[in-house]
Amino acid sequence: MAKVWFVGAGPGDPDLITVKGRHLIEKADAILFAGSLVSETAMRWAKPDCQVMDSKGMDLEEIIAWLIAQAQDERTVIRLQTGDPGLYGALIEMVQPLDERGIDVGVVPGVSSAMASAAAGVESLTLPEVTQTVILTRVEGRTPMPEGESLPELAQHHCTLCLFLSITLLKKVQADLLDAGWSEDAPILVVHKASWPGEEKIIRGTLADIREKCRTEKINSQAMIIISPAMGSRHWPEIKKSKLYDKRFSHRFRKAAHKI
Ligand code: SAH
Repeated sequence: MAKVWFVGAGPGDPDLITVKGRHLIEKADAILFAGSLVSETAMRWAKPDCQVMDSKGMDLEEIIAWLIAQAQDERTVIRLQTGDPGLYGALIEMVQPLDERGIDVGVVPGVSSAMASAAAGVESLTLPEVTQTVILTRVEGRTPMPEGESLPELAQHHCTLCLFLSITLLKKVQADLLDAGWSEDAPILVVHKASWPGEEKIIRGTLADIREKCRTEKINSQAMIIISPAMGSRHWPEIKKSKLYDKRFSHRFRKAAHKI
């Protein structure tokens, strides 16, 4: 039976695909990819006779029709997507028509650009006693935000926020965060083309000046915005240590030296 796999290609660097994703590419009969660096990932490992196709210029219906047409006999078909397929990837819109036709479907997770951007900046998205929560979201654009998920509401948690699809809306990001009580000096990280070999750009600024800095650097696409109370903690003189490695803290795999 044919199977359609939705595979996360990772954020750009072809080395950031999972081993499982790579193995599937090696055996795939047909691959439909989205984005230029994703194509490099596909080309690097696909069989010479694999049908590799760019979905640029195809609408959702054409994509679905292509996947259905390829999913015959015992074929392995891949929809290769940036980052993780479950984040802003129209996954369910593609899965439902396949389900309707009884076509088997699988998903291979990928390294999201949120994680790659934090890694690029050597940032931890969580820090003990500072923030233990990460919100992956976007600013309202053409896609309306569901009730309770507007940025001013989410920003009130004062935890880490990773904003996808929002780099052209930095003015709104600034206004919403100020409304939610963040300070003008709050540090912000913007990463453009995180992990893309030779093209990654890291911009650091504050809520007050990040927009100007991004304008100067001409960054208006493919960028992640991270705002976090833990931002820059690499350089803090003192941080609360994680209990995980605390000598006095036992967990399932390690007995404490001294009981607390
Ligand atoms: N599924 C993807 C997100 C797709 S939505 C993931 O998990 O990463 C597209 C948005 O993702 C872009 O607007 C941008 O905000 C972000 N993005 C994708 N690749 C990126 C990269 N290499 N660097 C920074 N941001 C990226």
